[in-house]
Amino acid sequence: MDLNLSDELQAFRQTARDFAHRTIAPLVDEAEAAERTPLELFKAAGAAGFLGIRYPESVGGQGAGVLAETILREEMARVCSGLAAAISVSSHLGTYPIHEFGDDEQQQRYLVPALKGEVVSAFGLTEPGAGSDVRSITTRAVRDGDDWVITGRKTYITNATIADFMIVVAYTDPTAGLDGMAMFVVDLPDSKIEVTRLGKMGHLSSEIGEVAFDGVRVPARACLGGERGAWAKVMKTLGIGRVVVSGGAIGTAQEAIDLAVDYAKERPAFGKPIGTNQGISFPLARAEAHTEAARLAVYKAAWLYDQASEPVKEVSVAKYLAAEAAIGATDVAIRVFGGAGYVRGSKVERLYRDARYFPIVEGTSEIHQRVIASRLGL
Ligand SMILES: Cc1cc2nc3c(=O)[nH]c(=O)nc-3n(C[C@H](O)[C@H](O)[C@H](O)COP(=O)(O)OP(=O)(O)OC[C@H]3O[C@@H](n4cnc5c(N)ncnc54)[C@H](O)[C@@H]3O)c2cc1C
Repeated sequence: MDLNLSDELQAFRQTARDFAHRTIAPLVDEAEAAERTPLELFKAAGAAGFLGIRYPESVGGQGAGVLAETILREEMARVCSGLAAAISVSSHLGTYPIHEFGDDEQQQRYLVPALKGEVVSAFGLTEPGAGSDVRSITTRAVRDGDDWVITGRKTYITNATIADFMIVVAYTDPTAGLDGMAMFVVDLPDSKIEVTRLGKMGHLSSEIGEVAFDGVRVPARACLGGERGAWAKVMKTLGIGRVVVSGGAIGTAQEAIDLAVDYAKERPAFGKPIGTNQGISFPLARAEAHTEAARLAVYKAAWLYDQASEPVKEVSVAKYLAAEAAIGATDVAIRVFGGAGYVRGSKVERLYRDARYFPIVEGTSEIHQRVIASRLGL
């Protein structure tokens, strides 16, 4: 399915697809096997302009919108959702706050090289004791003369093991509640910051880690956008991130459906292709319907951002539908492939593992249902 997108966006989709096939695809097998994100990926994405889709040309961006970035993530995820996530985190979560809330010096020092792919960024919000319940983070930043001293522990942080800098969300004044949070840009690696790799079930080519700060001293200029009031900034950053990650979910779902449809047309059983049985074709039809509905919701949320709106319910609807479409479609694909889908090395096996990422990150499916319910007055 393709919406009646503008000629410009359709051309962009083709360029993104070509990039995914020519540049990302050759890296996938080795990156997944080694569970490493190749740094040349960022350089290639930067050179092709794909790290700065939404940023203005003045900082090296393309000046396009959230819908374009969502389409890019969709096309990259069809090839490899793990590598797509690594790129997306560096080009959005770890850089958007610098563009939106950073001063000129911070933009030149961090944003500009990140958009070229010369350096990699990460975004540290989640902690061992606080994931969905973000307000319960305990990382503290205490002012000491001209410096800030950061103590705390962030976990499941994408790109933590390869990042050159990381945005860290911390309380500067816990007595002020949500108003007492700030963001800091912290250089990595640092001998006082302990980064521990974490293994996981999917997205193997996207590295994640736990990051421990034990009285880490950073200069005053590391504070991003003020000593307080970061909560709204974090939420704004996550809002767009949720739409972009939903693009990855629908790309994952569509790839699984397309592979399974092709297989169902070819694979014979009892003298005819398995796809001639409604037991195979109807689940695929349902997965296609759910994915198409999810894509519409995702594009709508992206479009709203591009119209300068700040959607909330639409973002949660999109993220929830897209994540669940990815889970449903990859489950159907494994069933259609039978044993051929369960063995290591089959693409649907990777898609199935990768899909489990989507209902967890950037707000779990339960949290998005909570947001939708609250918008219904419940
Ligand atoms: C691969 C991967 C990459 C990640 N990358 C990053 C990153 O780069 N930066 C970062 O900061 N974080 C990152 N995360 C963390 C991610 O955002 C969190 O895992 C997510 O927010 C959920 O938090 P949690 O894991 O602590 O689960 P919890 O919040 O403990 O939730 C556990 C379960 O309880 C449910 N639950 C919680 N509260 C409610 C409620 N009120 N009602 C109903 N159900 C509820 C949840 O939906 C979930 O099913 C990453 C995670 C993964 C897996």
